[in-house]
Amino acid sequence: KVVLGIETSCDDTAAAVVDETGNVLGEAIHSQTEVHLKTGGIIPPVAQQLHRENIQRIVQEALSASRVPPSELSAVATTTMPGLALSLGVGLSFSLQLVGQLRKPFIPIHHMEAHALTIRLTNEVEFPFLVLLISGGHCLLALVRGVADFLLLGKSLDIAPGDMLDKVARRLSLTKHPECAAMSGGKAIEHLAKQGNRLRFDLTPPMHRAKNCDFSFTGLQHAVNKIITQKEKEEGVEQGQVLASAADIAAAVQHTTACHLAKRTHRALLFCQQRGLLPSSNTALVVSGGVASNFYIRKALELVTNATQCALLCPPPRLCTDNGVMVAW
Ligand code: ATP
Ligand code: FE
Repeated sequence: KVVLGIETSCDDTAAAVVDETGNVLGEAIHSQTEVHLKTGGIIPPVAQQLHRENIQRIVQEALSASRVPPSELSAVATTTMPGLALSLGVGLSFSLQLVGQLRKPFIPIHHMEAHALTIRLTNEVEFPFLVLLISGGHCLLALVRGVADFLLLGKSLDIAPGDMLDKVARRLSLTKHPECAAMSGGKAIEHLAKQGNRLRFDLTPPMHRAKNCDFSFTGLQHAVNKIITQKEKEEGVEQGQVLASAADIAAAVQHTTACHLAKRTHRALLFCQQRGLLPSSNTALVVSGGVASNFYIRKALELVTNATQCALLCPPPRLCTDNGVMVAW
């Protein structure tokens, strides 16, 4: 069986052809990041227009690379939720037209389930396992009991960690930093943090007393904004210019984000192990989503998995962000 997967839920137009054993036969992606960085965020009608301009070419590229004639596809799978309605609509109407022409089955895909199951393409993972999905639009912890059997244990009560990192990066004007010009907010923070001192600013991890597995990031964002405003005054720098202390601020926000993610994940693992929902050893924590490509955050999560006799599994970075492969798989 060979499936064409199409992804347009946010700001990436992606397609891939994958067979039932997980061989990626062809893939193509068009990222809108550069355009959205210029406008300081995603403007849904702009994203929709860019998806429209690129979807035909991207699907064609994935199909050509695979050398699978469209008539030999087993099905077309497309992300139908969750995401930006205008963006999702482009992929959906394109796919419905395509399956109509080809007379092939259509498989609607839940974007977060696709992220959660990507790991089974690169690693042998038994159900059940715990998954932490951390991206620009989502933050959740779930027990994965089967391909379509998820138990949600916790989620962000406000914004997602990638969104928070993007906002902090924008407030720090990191696109004007010579080393970070074309990077996403999260990537720019990770890059700068390597040169920074995380102990210079004192940030409290969010919700440290809450006895659940939920997350919160707006409090942290506001605390960081306050520090930035104060530093702008101290350094005599105007808003929109890069602070001398930008690297220290990046290191502090990255560290506090990592602590928060690790703490909540530790709670979820202990909860599942103590109640027999997960085996007490030899179990897996799967971390995916754009923020999972952050190596500092992965290190923090490794402390948690080492303490709970659990394996930490992350898909390779290119499969952590939005892509067509996970949808087809
Ligand atoms: P969704 O939530 O629907 O999956 P998305 O487009 O935001 O949508 P991704 O493409 O998975 O999802 O992730 C993008 C996010 O990941 C951005 O917020 C970006 O800042 C963040 N990100 C990318 N690289 C890194 C990194 N190295 N460290 C931290 N965050 C990162
Ligand atoms: Fe995603």
